Amino acid sequence: MGKRVVITGVPGVGKTTVIDGAREKLKEENIDYTSINFGTCMFEVACEQGKVKSRDEMRKLEQAEQKELQKTAAQLIAKIKENVIVDTHCTVSTPGGYLPGLPSWVLEELKPDIIILVETDEDQILKRRMSDTSRERDMEGYLSIKEHQEYNRAMAAAYSMLTGSTVRIIKNQDFLLERSVADMLDILR
Ligand code: AMP
Ligand code: MG
Repeated sequence: MGKRVVITGVPGVGKTTVIDGAREKLKEENIDYTSINFGTCMFEVACEQGKVKSRDEMRKLEQAEQKELQKTAAQLIAKIKENVIVDTHCTVSTPGGYLPGLPSWVLEELKPDIIILVETDEDQILKRRMSDTSRERDMEGYLSIKEHQEYNRAMAAAYSMLTGSTVRIIKNQDFLLERSVADMLDILR
């Protein structure tokens, strides 16, 4: 069984960028990680079932539908036995409130060794969301992003208690991507 790393953070914080940066360096050292995007896994299933046309529609689906997609994705990812990085969310902001990204039945499938929270200042997240035209990001204010980041920390603690996984916080500040990648490498090596 390889190392199982779950990486989380609010939309726009730069999880995928940090993962890509770290994997590029690891390649040079011949360390292999499969990188899986949980949302992409869910989206492929949701698309096949004709439920959505874009990945940003999923969080507006009925709660029961989101949970069903979530379970299917977790079961697919559980089949990977080598080193894996799962790019996902501590909680998803839905019209009905925060949906846990890693409820107990998802954790039982994923069995993470470590949960990473990628964070940065809310004003930087706002700016990143506004300049990303590839996504349909929700228009949120500073305070609401702050609340979401705080809530995610609380949820990470709960996940850690359920699984015995460690929790690590990585800052991904403007102009300091190299530092975030170095922190990520410390974990993956
Ligand atoms: P992302 O590209 O990481 O922003 O993920 C796209 C979408 O996938 C999110 O907006 C959620 O609707 C969904 N998603 C990703 N991870 C999870 C999860 N662990 N539980 C529920 N939904 C998720
Ligand atoms: Mg992403």
